[in-house]
Amino acid sequence: MKDGEEMTSGPDCTGSERPDTNNPPVDVIHLLSEALHEIAETEWAIYGLGSQAEPSVYAQLHERLLHIKDLIPAPQPYALSRSIVETSPAVSSLRLRTGEAPAVVAHELIQTRNACARKLGREDYAALLLGCSGVDFRELEQWLATTAHALADPAVRGAKWTHYHQQVGQLVREESPLVDFSERTNDQWASLLKIHASELQAAVRPDGEMMGWCQPVDRPQDVRLMIRPRPKGMPLQLLLHELGHYLHYTAPAPEGWQLVSPPPVFDETMASLLEMAGSLMQLGQLIIRTAGPNSRRLEAASVRRWALSALFELRAYQANAESLDAMWVDMMDEYGFAVDSPQEWALDPFYVDDPLYRWHYVLGALWSAAELARTVPSAAREVADKIRELGQAAYTSPWRRVLGLGRALPEPHAYLEWMESDQD
Ligand SMILES: [Zn+2]
Repeated sequence: MKDGEEMTSGPDCTGSERPDTNNPPVDVIHLLSEALHEIAETEWAIYGLGSQAEPSVYAQLHERLLHIKDLIPAPQPYALSRSIVETSPAVSSLRLRTGEAPAVVAHELIQTRNACARKLGREDYAALLLGCSGVDFRELEQWLATTAHALADPAVRGAKWTHYHQQVGQLVREESPLVDFSERTNDQWASLLKIHASELQAAVRPDGEMMGWCQPVDRPQDVRLMIRPRPKGMPLQLLLHELGHYLHYTAPAPEGWQLVSPPPVFDETMASLLEMAGSLMQLGQLIIRTAGPNSRRLEAASVRRWALSALFELRAYQANAESLDAMWVDMMDEYGFAVDSPQEWALDPFYVDDPLYRWHYVLGALWSAAELARTVPSAAREVADKIRELGQAAYTSPWRRVLGLGRALPEPHAYLEWMESDQD
């Protein structure tokens, strides 16, 4: 049992120094911003440019963050708590370990992150991150389970794309609209979304490691966008998702808080809003291929898969990685998926690199469907304005209030209506 476990060894995540209360207050948020800025640069180099990671860089950042943590009273920002755990020597060395069975690495990562979270005073890593996001474990677990059940589509049950790992992503790509995103159309895209044409031009990275990625290194003035062009057309949703991040990250931010707030669930919701608004936009000659007849159903199948992936991961952290294979088989059986191997849960790369992240996409999709049903935008520029406006508000107000969520997370019904009205 995790509660009685002795923590005699393992990662040191507690920080050794207590704040000196006689010292005058320092600009702690500024210190945190600087450290987060360096983490962002490091991750840009590793994931964006494919350079080798230096474990010592993470170790030094970890020490700095522990010091900063002691200066900030609870509740501490998401970015701080997450970064303390992810830069800890035990976690960062596991993340950089390659060539091993993914299930072994993911299993160890869950236990190591949990050990770190316990040293920070939380029962496990899920409780730590969710606490920072303003979401309760039980609330999220029930919401994900309800959503996954609601999105089960009788029309596709038993069809080939219901298999968990192999087909959905491929089929979504085959059905999604393709657009011309190239030098020739750069100015049109820029004007459509109120982005400076030269900035958008700079975002095109033919040598990029990633298909699409937006990384804020210092909001709002240093936001890096990487879009690898595809000669035969760019999937519209992928392009708009990254541009949605870009619009949000470049919204004016209060000094010092650029990377500290808001939490990533808000970032992903803004990206989802532009991504889903894409199906309502008039794109004229930018369209190379229109959406296939099942595109929305397949997207819903993707969202459902993310909900299940998130639900499994939540429970995995709660169980401290005990009996994961059996848990996976039971869960797939409950939701009607075939299982090829009990360890296929570990094929999800998010469990290593972006722990407890998937639910952000589910929330973003459900909220955006409701929002687009409520106020149908007449132009992409309207959505761009909305993203900038909400993005600014989220620095000074809790994200749930900014999104008008109150006590409940978004219900699936608006998303189901959106899925049914396949109009493309
Ligand atoms: Zn995103």
